[in-house]
Amino acid sequence: MADFSRLIAATADTIAAHAEELTALDQAIGDGDHGLNMKRGFEAVRAEAEGFAAKPLPEALKAVGTKLVMTVGGASGPLFGTLFLALGKEMPIEPDRAGLATALGKAIEAVAARGKSQVGQKTMLDVLQPVYEALAQGKTAKEIADAADKAANATVPMKALRGRASFLGERSIGHMDAGARSTALLVRAVAETVEGH
Ligand code: ADP
Ligand code: MG
Repeated sequence: MADFSRLIAATADTIAAHAEELTALDQAIGDGDHGLNMKRGFEAVRAEAEGFAAKPLPEALKAVGTKLVMTVGGASGPLFGTLFLALGKEMPIEPDRAGLATALGKAIEAVAARGKSQVGQKTMLDVLQPVYEALAQGKTAKEIADAADKAANATVPMKALRGRASFLGERSIGHMDAGARSTALLVRAVAETVEGH
């Protein structure tokens, strides 16, 4: 499946291109490892792109999830891993938009369960949920990517209630959540790849 290898390349490229920015965001209110964590994970996925892309979509997504769990590390590794594993579990082999939206909705629930977290706590969930809503509402790929960026920006004034940033309490206010930013980058990469083909 050529499209899936394009998706892998696009996501790995954007994470690599923004690794320093993600590190800087995580340095402000975390421990500064998010850029390297994500880059390590997505480069590991890239290294397996050919084999993954040969699988049916649900299996390919599960393979990405497993690889991310093994390689990203930190709090976000199991969470991004869960996102892709659950997407694989819920995704039809040839999903239409409704199938995609349903799978993403279930995957978000899986991430929330794994992180014992919910929307509004300044995490990746604050981007995933608006993306799900935009997808379910039939928005275009560009609108979905824009919604993701807007949602990541909207984490700036939030107070972190989960993850390392929550240790800072009020001092977490005024900085974008690193995982929200990486999620928005992934969403834009996927949206632009899908749109372009
Ligand atoms: P660590 O916090 O262990 O250093 P990373 O820096 O790689 O891990 O990832 C931090 C990101 O993970 C945060 O910016 C946030 O978006 C996300 N995150 C952390 N904990 C949770 C949680 N419980 N639920 C959802 N997302 C979380
Ligand atoms: Mg960190």
